[in-house]
Amino acid sequence: MKKIACSISGVAALLGACLLTGCTSNTTTAQTRPPANPFPGISMGLDELKAKYQHLYVARRLKPKKWPNGARVAVALSFDIDNASTTLARGTPGSEPMSRGQYGAIDGLPRILSVLDKENVPASFFIPAVSAALNPEMIPAIQSKKRHEIGIHGWIHENLTELNDEAKEQELLNKSIDLLTKSMGKKPVGYRAPSWAMSQYTIKQVKEAGFLYDSSLMASDDAYEISLDGQPTGLVELPIERILDDAPYFGAANGSLPAPDLVDKIYRDEFDVAYQEGGLYVLTMHPFYTGHRSRALWLDKLIAYMKSKPGVWFATHEDVAKYVKTTPAG
Ligand SMILES: [Zn+2]
Repeated sequence: MKKIACSISGVAALLGACLLTGCTSNTTTAQTRPPANPFPGISMGLDELKAKYQHLYVARRLKPKKWPNGARVAVALSFDIDNASTTLARGTPGSEPMSRGQYGAIDGLPRILSVLDKENVPASFFIPAVSAALNPEMIPAIQSKKRHEIGIHGWIHENLTELNDEAKEQELLNKSIDLLTKSMGKKPVGYRAPSWAMSQYTIKQVKEAGFLYDSSLMASDDAYEISLDGQPTGLVELPIERILDDAPYFGAANGSLPAPDLVDKIYRDEFDVAYQEGGLYVLTMHPFYTGHRSRALWLDKLIAYMKSKPGVWFATHEDVAKYVKTTPAG
């Protein structure tokens, strides 16, 4: 703590301010601390910048010349069953976020499963292990459909960039694999980082754990093999995007805006261009957002629209990853 040289009136003013705000002399220390450099990158050489830029990069593109059975586009629907795990991880169990998360298990997932049943299409479900443990009926419900895939989505939806602890991250990954393997009866092959936020350790650990693919990165619209610090990993990336995620539209706005049909237009436009390009279309949703009545309704309409086009291959992430890994790129 630093001593403060000031007049009596200054002390009185400071005491008054402290009584109002509950501050301590640490506040003064913070006020006099020089601001952190907001642009550390300007002091780095090109080699250092390149190393950071290419820590995770594209080893090779995996957009196939053609899709199975002559399909023109691959559609990989995914649902992240976070439920209340993010709330529990932060230790701030307010009744609103907790019950909104519970909705994902109680009404959201069953409604999503019935939409997928109606349209007879597969999907991939990424589940934090804690979510699976707190609602153990979810995994059998998904598996009973015989066409969906279940992948890993962290232990308790921990943000790995913020955690930034190699040993703890490895421990949580191992625990997640163990719990989901026991619940599923087989080891998951797909990984999605909670909040799509990786640490510098994540891909190394995911590769060493033997996963087939990751679905947390954004360097392309189409699949690619991830390189780690310049070395090909063998891991397939099935890229995601905030544009194709229900959370920015329905999560941050708490359901107020926009209307589902506006979101539907974005999703359709993205699909239409993927169709023209012969590419991959990955959509990320959450049962506690898209599982609500009005949104499940447009999801049904969206799938029906895609099915109305000739040559659309609906597949799990696992099937897409296996296909692009073994098929010559276009
Ligand atoms: Zn998530």
